[in-house]
Amino acid sequence: MFFKTMEIQGFKSFADKTVLNFDKKMTAIVGSNGNGKSNISDALRWVMGEQGAKTLRGDKMEDVIFHGTVSRKPMGYARVALIIDNTDRALNVDSDEVTVTRKLYRTGDSEYLINEQKCRLKDIHELLMGTGLGRDGYSVIGQGRVSEIINSKVNQRRELFEEAAGVSRFLHKKQEAERDLERANDNIMRLKDIESELARRVPVLEKQSEKARQALVLTEKERALDIGISVWDLRKTGAELIETDNSILANQGQCEHFEREISQLERENESAAEKKMLLTARQEELRRQSDMAKDGLAAADREKAVLENEIMHCYEKIRQLKDRIKDGEKGADNLKAQIAELKLEAAEKRGQLSENEEKAKALGASLSEMTEEGDRSDSEFK
Ligand code: ATP
Repeated sequence: MFFKTMEIQGFKSFADKTVLNFDKKMTAIVGSNGNGKSNISDALRWVMGEQGAKTLRGDKMEDVIFHGTVSRKPMGYARVALIIDNTDRALNVDSDEVTVTRKLYRTGDSEYLINEQKCRLKDIHELLMGTGLGRDGYSVIGQGRVSEIINSKVNQRRELFEEAAGVSRFLHKKQEAERDLERANDNIMRLKDIESELARRVPVLEKQSEKARQALVLTEKERALDIGISVWDLRKTGAELIETDNSILANQGQCEHFEREISQLERENESAAEKKMLLTARQEELRRQSDMAKDGLAAADREKAVLENEIMHCYEKIRQLKDRIKDGEKGADNLKAQIAELKLEAAEKRGQLSENEEKAKALGASLSEMTEEGDRSDSEFK
């Protein structure tokens, strides 16, 4: 088992994602002061479950998140993933590679993952327990920790050696088994208490049991009596049933007669229904014809009214024509009178004309005489 790769992002001075590939032959990381060498070992401890902020050289756990620089904003979370080669199956996981991931958000929320599956911090401790990689393992020794180990108490040093020797896993299991044993003993004690409590209650329970037994006997008797009553009831009901059967038989003839009557009535009812249907159809037809006749009548009435109106109009015209004839007759009489007058006037004029002709003739004759006289006078002068 050995570390293959570590990915760091947002952890302390590693703002950008940084991937460190650990060569098997790598023995040291060198660099100038303050350039982040210790931050790498802090990341290693942190991903393996370190819970002490002080051990990580901070005041609180949030201090491990990149807090920003003059030119760069702080990050919201820190993430470290450690990829471990497990081809020798040193870790209790059936895969050649095991990835342990830890994530911490500024809100305080954190996540632990083994091979990208969410898990508890306890699972990571158990995974690494006994491998020397654990939280309290000897594999990562921070600045100043060597003297701390040397000066530590015997017990503390012993724990360190136990972890290094791989016995801590078994010690842990032993502790768990002891806790289980303790719990089992507690349970036994509790059961014993319950047993003695129950023993005290046995006489009372025996009395209650005797009473229950008597109650059972009485219940049995009651049940037998109930059955007797039910049998008696059944017999009585059977007799009544036979009586009812007889009366049913007696009524059966009447019933059949009624059924025949019902059938007959049903047939009649059916034929009546058929007739009713036909009558309804006929009624419908008659109603349709009546409606048509009504329509014709209404049309004839309208035509009659039109004709009456036209007759009235004709009568009016005749009356007007008669009036005009009367007026014409009156005009003819007037004209006749005028003609008569004019005839008289004409006779008068004719008389006057004759007179005038006479006068003219006389004047003509006088004129001829005068002319002749004149002609003679002329010839006399010549
Ligand atoms: P040295 O050789 O002196 O021991 P180093 O190489 O081990 O130094 P680190 O102690 O690993 O250096 O790194 C210290 C640097 O990490 C300091 O510059 C410090 O500002 C930076 N640093 C520590 N915590 C954060 C943080 N949360 N955010 C940003 N930078 C941090």
